[in-house]
Amino acid sequence: MQGLAGKRVIVTAGAAGIGRVTAEAFVDAGARVFVCDIDDRALADVAAKRPEIGRIHADVAREEDVERLFAAALAALGGLDILVNNAGIAGPTGPVESLDLAGWKHCLAVNLDGTFLCTRRAVPELVKAGGGSIVNLSSTAGLFGFPNRTPYATAKWGIIGLTKTLAMELGPRGIRVNAICPGPVEGPRIERVIAADAQVTGRSIEETRAAYLRTNALRTFVEARDIANMILFLCSDLGRRITGQAIAVDGGTETLRTR
Ligand code: NAD
Repeated sequence: MQGLAGKRVIVTAGAAGIGRVTAEAFVDAGARVFVCDIDDRALADVAAKRPEIGRIHADVAREEDVERLFAAALAALGGLDILVNNAGIAGPTGPVESLDLAGWKHCLAVNLDGTFLCTRRAVPELVKAGGGSIVNLSSTAGLFGFPNRTPYATAKWGIIGLTKTLAMELGPRGIRVNAICPGPVEGPRIERVIAADAQVTGRSIEETRAAYLRTNALRTFVEARDIANMILFLCSDLGRRITGQAIAVDGGTETLRTR
């Protein structure tokens, strides 16, 4: 995609899932990429299969880990043009009165503190580079209410508020900030969400999956590559006038009510 060759990119949680597909797509577009993750097996898999992608074990919710990530990434890349705040966890599933404070806090910490900590560290580097692009991973749960997923929905709505505010704050310095709202991506994560939902409702896994598919116009889950395509578009020259947006890639979600 136009204008990505030679760009210096950090993708958080880039050793698996959407982050991994995005990191590889940037490399394939000629960019230089550094990822962090907390899963050492996934990091070892990156080292084995895509050794050109720089990598470090770092938890985005921990300030000292984010410092180590940026020290290593900046040493490897020599600067920064693009930050993809991809790290996020689903958090606990259940009626609000059943949730404990630790689960609530951990979900907000990875999704929101992590995005804040990485963005705060990236901005001076993006300014030094003469401008750049930040993409934050929200969710359709950042656009609709999502019963029984209060911590996650709260965090993902927060990501959109952060994105719109940062776009205004950083736009005059040439930094664009957008959020992407994926629908459920095919793979182990949505299978875990479906299993947890089925446990809460007592419905079968198959009934629960069918109910999730009925929430969008195309009756589909999305692929990680669909999300990566939108991230690359936003960070390329094709997206040069786009900022402050929350863009859904979700088959046309109409509701997150699945029962
Ligand atoms: P995933 O569950 O597949 O995890 C990807 C990677 O994140 C894993 O390798 C994991 O080790 C790493 N990770 C987890 N916590 C971390 C932390 N604190 N610091 C660093 N790395 C960490 O994730 P995914 O499904 O690819 O989701 C990526 C992003 O997209 C998240 O922000 C998620 O909320 C969002 N999202 C995903 C879906 C979906 O259906 N997969 C839908 C909407 C939004």
